[in-house]
Amino acid sequence: MSRRRQIYEGKAKILYEGPEPGTLIQYFKDDATAFNAQKKGTISGKGVLNNRISEHVFTLLGGLGIPTHFIRRLNMREQLIRQVEIVPIEVVVRNVAAGSLSKRLGIEEGQQLPRTIIEYYYKDDALGDPMIADEHIACFGWASQEEMNDIADMAVRVNDFLCGLFAGIGIRLVDFKLEFGRLWENDYSRIILADEISPDGCRLWDMTTNEKLDKDRFRRDLGGEAEAYQEVARRLGLLPEGEANSVLDLEEHRQKRGK
Ligand code: C5P
Repeated sequence: MSRRRQIYEGKAKILYEGPEPGTLIQYFKDDATAFNAQKKGTISGKGVLNNRISEHVFTLLGGLGIPTHFIRRLNMREQLIRQVEIVPIEVVVRNVAAGSLSKRLGIEEGQQLPRTIIEYYYKDDALGDPMIADEHIACFGWASQEEMNDIADMAVRVNDFLCGLFAGIGIRLVDFKLEFGRLWENDYSRIILADEISPDGCRLWDMTTNEKLDKDRFRRDLGGEAEAYQEVARRLGLLPEGEANSVLDLEEHRQKRGK
């Protein structure tokens, strides 16, 4: 069988050429990075869980009429997606003060924000993904005003939906990051949701204990990151009851075989 052509390798995912024009295969790695890749590690089984969690969330969002790049999951670590031109902007939505917002503005972590905040960051590893204003986006032509309107509208809709989804399973959606892409059809493009939605890019706190169920466990050396991701998947109903360890066991098994 011929080797698939790799299109791009990111910190947590690899993109391969898809089976048909306009499609890609998104492969989820166990690799974890933080602080602009200054901290590196692996979270055993993360790729499998993120693939499944992201499939679930994107499918639900698609059902609400939010266009996404997701087509279907192919296997444990791969999903078929639409090829888009990624808008070079990371969109962060915040409901509760945490992370860089708390650090930058001296606001205590955990404080409920009186209103939801949307922030934009320029996607550039060399620059450390600096925070930007609408003015920068317009000035440097990273996205049109119409595209930014669509992006902001979708970010709010995604936030409303995800807050409810997670609240229903006892999880507070503190903040999260979204990425969008342009889907080209002839000379026209439209904005669709891209990348992934998983505990890698969300802050998810248990509503009763405030336990962190996301990548902050890795960033802050709290331990138990695989278990936290698994707990999110379990509460979303994505792991069969009583088989909570099957994903991790399988991954360990694979590693033992050296694959
Ligand atoms: O670090 P900060 O507080 O700005 O992160 C806000 C949210 O965006 C967090 O949920 C974090 O996981 C996510 N994020 C991300 N990728 C980045 C920056 C932030 O997923 N490069």
